[in-house]
Amino acid sequence: MADPDTKAVSEAEPRPQFARPHRSLVHRLSADDAFASLRSGPRGLTQAEAARRLREFGPNSVQKIRREPAVVRLAKEFVQFFSLILWGAAALAFFAEWSAPGQGMARIGYALVVVILVSGTFSFWQEFRVERTLAALQKLIPPHAQALRDGVMLQLAAEELVVGDVILLEQGDSVPADCRLVDASRLRINNATVTGESLSKTRDARSSDAEDLLQARNILFAGTFVDAGRGTALVFATGETTEFGRIAHLTQISGEGASPLRRELAHLSRLIAALAIGIGVLFLAVGIAIDLPFWQDFIFSIGIIVAMVPEGLLPTLTLALVLAAQRMAKRNVLIRHLPSVEALGSTTVICTDKTGTLTENRMEVRELLLGLRHWQAASIVGRPDIADSQRDLFLGAACCHDLKEAERSGRHVTLGDPMEIALRNMAQAVVPGIPSPDRSDEIAFDSDRMRQSVVCESGTGRTLYCKGAPERVLPLCRQIFDSGKLQLLDEARREAIVRAQESMAARGLRVLAFASRDLPVPIEHSALEESLVFQGLVGLEDPPRAEVPEAMRQCRQAGIKVIMVTGDHPNTAVAIARQIGMVESAEPVVVTGARMRESSDAELQLLLDATEIVFARVAADQKLRIVQALQKKGHMVAVTGDGVNDAPALKAANIGVAMGIAGTDVAKQAADVVLLDDNFASIVNGVEEGRAIFQNIRKFLTYVLVHNVAELVPYLAFALFRIPLPLTPIQALSVDMGTDSLTALGLGAERPDPQVMRLRPRRPNERLLNLPLALRAYLFLGVIEAAASMAAYFFVLMLGGWKYGQTLAWNDPLYLRATTACLSAIIVMQIVNVFLCRSSVRSVFAMRPFDNPLIVWGVALELGLLLLIAYTPIGNSLLGTAVVPNALWLLLAPLSFGMLLLEELRKWLVRRRLDESARRNWR
Ligand code: ADP
Ligand code: MG
Repeated sequence: MADPDTKAVSEAEPRPQFARPHRSLVHRLSADDAFASLRSGPRGLTQAEAARRLREFGPNSVQKIRREPAVVRLAKEFVQFFSLILWGAAALAFFAEWSAPGQGMARIGYALVVVILVSGTFSFWQEFRVERTLAALQKLIPPHAQALRDGVMLQLAAEELVVGDVILLEQGDSVPADCRLVDASRLRINNATVTGESLSKTRDARSSDAEDLLQARNILFAGTFVDAGRGTALVFATGETTEFGRIAHLTQISGEGASPLRRELAHLSRLIAALAIGIGVLFLAVGIAIDLPFWQDFIFSIGIIVAMVPEGLLPTLTLALVLAAQRMAKRNVLIRHLPSVEALGSTTVICTDKTGTLTENRMEVRELLLGLRHWQAASIVGRPDIADSQRDLFLGAACCHDLKEAERSGRHVTLGDPMEIALRNMAQAVVPGIPSPDRSDEIAFDSDRMRQSVVCESGTGRTLYCKGAPERVLPLCRQIFDSGKLQLLDEARREAIVRAQESMAARGLRVLAFASRDLPVPIEHSALEESLVFQGLVGLEDPPRAEVPEAMRQCRQAGIKVIMVTGDHPNTAVAIARQIGMVESAEPVVVTGARMRESSDAELQLLLDATEIVFARVAADQKLRIVQALQKKGHMVAVTGDGVNDAPALKAANIGVAMGIAGTDVAKQAADVVLLDDNFASIVNGVEEGRAIFQNIRKFLTYVLVHNVAELVPYLAFALFRIPLPLTPIQALSVDMGTDSLTALGLGAERPDPQVMRLRPRRPNERLLNLPLALRAYLFLGVIEAAASMAAYFFVLMLGGWKYGQTLAWNDPLYLRATTACLSAIIVMQIVNVFLCRSSVRSVFAMRPFDNPLIVWGVALELGLLLLIAYTPIGNSLLGTAVVPNALWLLLAPLSFGMLLLEELRKWLVRRRLDESARRNWR
């Protein structure tokens, strides 16, 4: 076959720009010499020799390259945005100490430096953890390889391959090591990962006299993909010594840029920081204007900035996402890019495959049409007459397939499409000892052609067996073999066949047509599939997965539209859609691939308005069109896929979901998410977790904003009412960075609320910090908490005999006691608040208080630190605190209870309003 890239090969392929010592010349050798030079043979290596080589050469894996050394990355954490603000504040504090010693400014400076170091190290450690977790998750989908060992085809982890192994490669596989082809059938390879070219190229096994390996047509490189065809190849380089390993051009899992969520959060924190600095500077000016002592005024401004900057927000977000990714992995949803965790939660449409995703992919033959006669499958087993009369159909079922016999951990297995296994089993049951003749040619199955043909040699001659979608096979047929006779396939007979197909399909069966032909001796490859003899139809049952109807119900409740996109017949598609509750109306909209070809994009967009819609007999490239049309309508689209042709749709979708079991490597590479069990219900679980994470971020945002208000109000009071400063900057920091750190994280890791799948999908432009959240955090909970902490402060002051207007030295014992009271109040109120923040509408009493271990530990940490701060000499000297009078606790008990009651009241009012609007919507 003439190939467009044949002549251009030597100039077109770009040369790499790095030195390569000791290049292999394996491409120049004949296949036999290549085997000899690598001490291998057509039967592969022996297991013992392979094991020996594995020890000598090491595993076939490429170490990940780090973008930057750890030290640099750690250092970078210390010059992040928030850190820079704090460095500035620290520098000012030290300057203040230098120009006016003895005001305690140096201590603030040191405290700020400690905060920068601690929070920087903390984020560094978290990022490190993120990487490790993601890497561990990736290991759940090990790239596999099929290798001949001792003449037996084995399924191995790609890591176990060694030089000299003979491997089998097929459409959709990624090439696991550098290898030289020894046999190839219409093999096309996509070298994009190594050479950057996006067009695929044909490869064959002939020896080549190219100068360079990269130009040789018989060489395949690790990390590239098989676009089409199949081949057998001899491995000559593994791991670090492959071209891929040398370029170290490994696609890094973390190279994902900023997600909308991260950007939004970064934006939000910048906003808050700017606000903080603005207020700080403003109050500095006000202080100067009202003649406050300058240094006092200065401490005060720094305090405002420190109080309002939410230091822990970004690292907490990352950690919350990682925890969610881990939870998802437990539910068989593997996240390949961290931001997809949250993107999954905003899904509004899921386009899903049928076979294997909605159904079990456990096929069984139920009905047959032999010639023109309809049979139940069970009734023809043990009927030699039927076996004889329709022998070509059964021969076709026995030999027209892509099944492979292999050994996996010592056991014999048949690998391949369950449908083909079912067909072959049926043939073997009906015709015991049915032969499987040698195959001399074939035209492979692909989902666009929807049929497959093989040419088999037998004693009498060559026969072509074809199987595929009836619409694609019937037009090729000229005759029909019925009741033992060859007859003309006239219109009436064609119609009878189509009717039989439609009624089988309407019963939910997947229908395949079988045809055959005795080939004349000289024949062009392109003329193989002509003038066939129709043999019959086979109807296979593939039961829906048990979990799917419930998942479908959840989607309906959650306002997520589910669209089936299948290559199967419309009747089969609708029957299955009905069985799983996806279609409930009498007349769902069914769009076929043919109809799609005739529709413009606008028409397609209009079709997609239908509430129940099924796409049938669509080709893979049409999936992309559906995804794009949905996106134009403003949808967040999740799409599933398994084949090579699905990759464009998976990439284009907002969330590409690849199948972990049935999926090809290409599909997995293109996807954001891999479903370990191929199950539709798992996608829905993923959506639930994704929605929860958005809610959780709001929960900890509320929590953190509340303490920021409680930290800010003391400064306002100080400036407005000329009272001693109720909370020092260091004390404010101890809340942000210390006491509240774990509880905030706990809120980020909350389990999905049972209500979360009853809500509509979030609007894509919905802000994280919306008005209700800001009002609740700043003006409701924040104000209550601030009032309580000020009350505690004044309570202790009054108890110590303080009168309004009286100033206190910064180390006066009464002043120390009073600030301790203020800090203690904030900590105690935050302990209550963490339970309030677990939901913005549900009552605390409707939730189990101890089912989130992180929150339980977080509360323990709060209490521990509180005791440390208030009662130990170390805590006292670090934070400028003193032992508080016991009466304080008697005051804090009713105050925190009051906060609980007020919030319960607010939630009750909100719930009542929600109920009302729900009732109104009903009418
Ligand atoms: P699905 O959306 O159900 O996965 P496919 O794209 O796999 O559909 O298949 C589309 C159609 O192609 C099927 O309905 C069937 O008629 C035909 N087909 C599927 N697999 C094979 C095969 N291995 N050999 C021949 N025809 C097939
Ligand atoms: Mg399929």
